[in-house]
Amino acid sequence: MTAGDVMKDTWPLLDQIPFPAIARGSLQTLQVNVGYRCNQSCVHCHVNAGPSRTEEMDEATIEVVLAFLKRRRIATLDITGGAPELNPHFRPLVVAARDLGVKVMDRHNLTVQEQPGQEDLAAFLAENEVAVVASMPCYLQDNVDKQRGKGVYDGSIRALQRLNALGYGREGSGLTLNLVYNPLGPSLPPPQRELEADYKRILSERFGITFNSLFTLANMPIQRFGAILLAHGQFDAYLDKLAHAHRGENLDGVMCRSLLSVDYRGYLYDCDFNQMLDLPLTRGSRARLHLSELLDDDIAGNPIRVAGHCFGCTAGQGSSCGGALKEAAA
Ligand code: SF4
Ligand code: SF4
Repeated sequence: MTAGDVMKDTWPLLDQIPFPAIARGSLQTLQVNVGYRCNQSCVHCHVNAGPSRTEEMDEATIEVVLAFLKRRRIATLDITGGAPELNPHFRPLVVAARDLGVKVMDRHNLTVQEQPGQEDLAAFLAENEVAVVASMPCYLQDNVDKQRGKGVYDGSIRALQRLNALGYGREGSGLTLNLVYNPLGPSLPPPQRELEADYKRILSERFGITFNSLFTLANMPIQRFGAILLAHGQFDAYLDKLAHAHRGENLDGVMCRSLLSVDYRGYLYDCDFNQMLDLPLTRGSRARLHLSELLDDDIAGNPIRVAGHCFGCTAGQGSSCGGALKEAAA
């Protein structure tokens, strides 16, 4: 399925599912989606990213992001997409944020390193001490190629070896390389620690690859994956599975408490998933806010817009942009 295909929207169903009320805490991370263009079109992609998407953050909005980081003294800039590196303003944004002393994370799909013009990308990331969070949904070739496309596994292995050669994932280098796992289908991810041990052993034995941590994330019942669930008649069963596995203690660690999500135009959401559902962050009577309006406004305590998809964050061991909540906190 490609981004251009007509897909059934899961929002009308998700909107009817009640979820406990939660509110924002103090802001630590600005997660910025710099565009939907991607060299891959993965089955589970909650952004519906792909090579034909043209939406991308312009220079003026990048300037607002930098002004916000500076004014609000934000600790971490989390850059996402699509493949964020395909936005021509990606590198200037990274350099300027690092100059401000901000920690920068790149949500990196690995194979983008082999796109034309990206030959020096790994070296650029290392030079700027960018923390790399890379998607690697399985250590087995068939599963990766099935979920992310033919040839993605081999390209990902080469990219990981390139990052390792620069020091990424090696103890004491200061260059963080974390991998992200999400299941192939409508099931909850297995325990993060056990899977991480398997990944470390197999990638090291077969390819000499090392990395810091594995984050396990549940697939969100939205966008491309949501449409597939509907098409296969699996939506209700998957939502039941998530809701039954809900754990109240995970509510404290969900990423929307400390992260603010910005779309490519500069509009704000409680998280990336809400961004993809077009559920903007609301404030008082304001139905949609732009980052430029929050330069002097602290949104701690603001209610978070929740619905049925949020069980994807609180089911079982929980999921956040830093992986399983229980184990991340342990
Ligand atoms: S690499 Fe990431 S952004 Fe690109 S299509 Fe796959 S999941 Fe979506
Ligand atoms: S999907 Fe997760 S991160 Fe987003 S608002 Fe719901 S609980 Fe928070």
